[in-house]
Amino acid sequence: MNVYDSDRMADVLAPLGYTSVDGPEDADMVILNTCHIREKAAEKVYSELGRLRQLKQARSETEPDRRGPMLAVAGCVAQAEGAEMLARAPFVDIVFGPQTYHRLPEMIAKAERTAERAAKPGGRNGSRGAGILDTEFPEEAKFDHLPNAQPKRHGASCTAFLTIQEGCDKFCTFCVVPYTRGVEFSRPGRAVLAECHQLVDGGVREVTLLGQNVNAYHGAAPGSGNWDLAELIAQLAVIEGLERIRYTTSHPRDMTDRLFDIHGTCAKLMPYLHLPVQSGSDRILAAMNRGYTAADYHAAVARLRQVRPDIALSGDFIVGFPGESEADFEATMELVDEVNYAQAYSFKYSPRPGTPAALLENQVPDDVGAARLQRLQELLNQQQQAFNQRMVGRRLPLLLDRAGRRPGQLVGRSPYMQAVHVDGGLNLLGRIVEVEITAAHANSLAGTLSPPQAAAPRRPMEPRMGRVS
Ligand code: SAH
Ligand code: SF4
Repeated sequence: MNVYDSDRMADVLAPLGYTSVDGPEDADMVILNTCHIREKAAEKVYSELGRLRQLKQARSETEPDRRGPMLAVAGCVAQAEGAEMLARAPFVDIVFGPQTYHRLPEMIAKAERTAERAAKPGGRNGSRGAGILDTEFPEEAKFDHLPNAQPKRHGASCTAFLTIQEGCDKFCTFCVVPYTRGVEFSRPGRAVLAECHQLVDGGVREVTLLGQNVNAYHGAAPGSGNWDLAELIAQLAVIEGLERIRYTTSHPRDMTDRLFDIHGTCAKLMPYLHLPVQSGSDRILAAMNRGYTAADYHAAVARLRQVRPDIALSGDFIVGFPGESEADFEATMELVDEVNYAQAYSFKYSPRPGTPAALLENQVPDDVGAARLQRLQELLNQQQQAFNQRMVGRRLPLLLDRAGRRPGQLVGRSPYMQAVHVDGGLNLLGRIVEVEITAAHANSLAGTLSPPQAAAPRRPMEPRMGRVS
């Protein structure tokens, strides 16, 4: 979601004349878009700010007539630390949270005025003065004030993220999201459709619907009532030229009957789902306030596999949650063994300020958490390797989304999000082609284009059904 937000910030800044540059050295403004989910991510912000401060100083020495780059910190660390951040890093010009970036032009104008005052005789020359802070959760929804989304600015232009839902009311005891992103909010269906049409008109073929709990989506329907995620997917599936739909991150508790069903009926919905479980122990799941048991999760997986037998799963795991015993951890290993993941993200529990779990007394020692993480990751890696190996000899449809490192090489994504390298001409970029998988490496696959498909004209995949009633 931070990638999507950063792109939208670029959209907001484009009318002011800003364009993206490759690195901070040449920039007139640098925005760090930050993540607070784990301590490690949050710590990185200050080390990065230290480097940017040096850059700013160096520029004021080499180019005394030019003010150093304006420095802004966005995202959830900015939201959580706000004024404290400005006190700790007074050289930062603007600090703003994830819900106020549509106000960037006003913030920049204010920061410019402050800097001009500081540059006047008697002012603090070269410095920008007091920083601007905006970490409100404003009444107005930022999406109503953002300019239309442009097709993806980073990397591939035939795939795009599209935020449809933000925030969370679930309050898992380990998680900062409800505090930093705010209450759950769904964008109206009409706005999502309009943004998707615009992306597809700009060449996008695959859209990933984003939300902290994307399957809790309940956006206003045009007219009256609400659309759930299944209905939204059905509405998007009829857009001609849109060939693949994905959604992330989904919560096991919000998998509805209609959502299960659409996995079996909508051909554009890719057979790959990220469904975080966090733990396989019911005791720990309850302490985390997840609202489901391991058996509920297994039932969801079974149902997905029943409606879409070729579906592959990825998940998130936390080890070393306070009070996690060896037996609790073994339950997680058993769950992983049974589910068999295609891919996964696993983390050592990180106590986050202001969350209930951070106050629990029975914190798991660091070395115990680290050892468990290593065991879990070994198992998950084995499963991922085995999944990739099973692709060898199969034919897969590939969306060719970028040029490879070697001339004449292209990289595409399989339905299961695997990167696949093939040889082919740049004219194939943005197309879906059939590929025979010839080898599986640690993090990617290799394949060969089948000549008849390589020459086929681009045609959108037909959905097996257009609407859910
Ligand atoms: N809404 C999603 C997850 C969003 S956060 C869900 O409920 O499943 C993304 C992932 O970060 C989580 O799935 C979790 O595995 C990890 N995470 C969140 N808070 C964490 C913490 N305090 N320590 C370690 N991992 C954490
Ligand atoms: Fe965080 Fe996800 Fe739990 Fe919400 S449901 S509190 S985003 S882990």
